[in-house]
Amino acid sequence: MRNDRHLTFVYKTIREKIEYKKNSSECPFCNRSELNDIIEEDGKIILLKNKFPALADTYQLVLIEVDNCSDSISTYDKEYLRKLIKFGIDHWLETEKSGEFKSVVFFKNHGPLSGGSIAHAHMQIVGLKNIDYKENIRDEIFEGIEVHREGRSLINLSTMPNACSLEINIITSPRDDNYIADHLQVLVNYILKQSKSYNLFFYNWNNSIICKIVSRWITSPYIIGYSIAHNTNRVTMIADDLRELLGSN
Ligand SMILES: [Zn+2]
Repeated sequence: MRNDRHLTFVYKTIREKIEYKKNSSECPFCNRSELNDIIEEDGKIILLKNKFPALADTYQLVLIEVDNCSDSISTYDKEYLRKLIKFGIDHWLETEKSGEFKSVVFFKNHGPLSGGSIAHAHMQIVGLKNIDYKENIRDEIFEGIEVHREGRSLINLSTMPNACSLEINIITSPRDDNYIADHLQVLVNYILKQSKSYNLFFYNWNNSIICKIVSRWITSPYIIGYSIAHNTNRVTMIADDLRELLGSN
């Protein structure tokens, strides 16, 4: 395996995707009979190969969360969210275990500034043949003000975020999918009150399974040009908000 630092866009595939979008008005994820390359289906949840894998040297999977365009993490009930998170983490870790990739990322885009191109709720699992995402990560992005704890699982607010000023970490060690699922909705709804867009990023990091919720704004030039991330002087206030929401006061 090589060791790259960049993901290469495949121009031809991007052109095909643009053409496809131009010629279809329907949501491709609602139109379930037209879906191909399905890997697994569990009720409304479908895992399939990305129709337009526009990144070279990757294995791109799409996890369609639900069978309609209006539901999302904000609307699923507790059992559905538990099932979805377990389904996603199972397949992500399975892809990682295959040994075919230098690393495997699992993430979600939501909203116009999140980097996603389809509004229908979905997540992505992407095997990277030549890139180890862990090389760019430092422990400090998971450190912060603790706002909730249950045994060894906890939620904190990043004081040294990776990029954006509002990053919330759900850290479970050992892996606890239900702890992530049961707290995700309230945290996502909190972020959506301030910003229309967010990402979820999952990390298999030092024997912990971590879900980082990141609010998205127009990307800061300090990050783009100088790799300088932002934090905020409102952290203690936001931490108080989160403690109240999570019932941990
Ligand atoms: Zn749809």
